[in-house]
Amino acid sequence: MPLVTLAEVLQEADAKGYAVGAFNCNNMEIVQAIIGAAEAEGAPVIIQASQGAIKYAGLDYITSLVRTAAAGTRVPVVLHLDHGTDFEQVLRCLRAGFTSVMIDGSKYPLEENIALTRRVVEIAHAMGASVEGELGRIGGTEDHVSVSEREATMTVPEEAARFVAETGVDALAVAIGTAHGRYKGKPQLDFERLAAIDGLINTPIVLHGSSGVPDEDIRRAVALGVRKINIDTDIRIAFVEAMRRALADNPEEIDPRKVLGPARDAAASVIRHKMRVFGSAGRLYNSIPG
Ligand SMILES: [Zn+2]
Repeated sequence: MPLVTLAEVLQEADAKGYAVGAFNCNNMEIVQAIIGAAEAEGAPVIIQASQGAIKYAGLDYITSLVRTAAAGTRVPVVLHLDHGTDFEQVLRCLRAGFTSVMIDGSKYPLEENIALTRRVVEIAHAMGASVEGELGRIGGTEDHVSVSEREATMTVPEEAARFVAETGVDALAVAIGTAHGRYKGKPQLDFERLAAIDGLINTPIVLHGSSGVPDEDIRRAVALGVRKINIDTDIRIAFVEAMRRALADNPEEIDPRKVLGPARDAAASVIRHKMRVFGSAGRLYNSIPG
């Protein structure tokens, strides 16, 4: 079926109390792994591409791959831009047919973040697409910051309430202690802060940097209002480790399919597990094609 919007799948998830997985793609095999997992689990799914992925694969390739995948399935599929920072890039994605975009204005002061995000919301909504904003700064696992510095980057609940009211975003990414990349220790999530944010806003909450977060912490975050969960690193690890194994087992192999096929399978199995943890497995619903 045609692509659907982020607002639609998150509204459904919010009504039933689960989270939808947002999985990053940058090539055909990963798109197929995501769709295959969604079909096997009967789960609505968000396929997202970062600006880096678009630069690598090309906007037309990403859009065509995901459209083709969506057209051949009854699973609701959203095509979402992850961490859009450039206004022009956001517009290019909307024109290409993305049904959702993230505008990440988290590096700007609150007023500027609100102004930029609102501008994107006006345009995206007029085009029938959804918008995710970010408040607070979600860093990388490689960032060496003290506890007090980390606290300073986290989302302030009262600011979140103002941000969603003034921007009209369809989803809000919050900083509550997760980070992008591969964690060295166990990530420490600030559940109290998450509960406070959820108590002040009705907008679905997004958790970035969710790869490597223990399943029980993910379940707790979903119980506290998280409705979109971003996974990139865990897919990369599964994909590349499977490629390494295939090459190590068959050093003379020259058929890319014998290396990429197992990688695709490994990625799909990680994604299926995530869907069960997020609660999105077995949640197909009657979608309204956008
Ligand atoms: Zn992110």
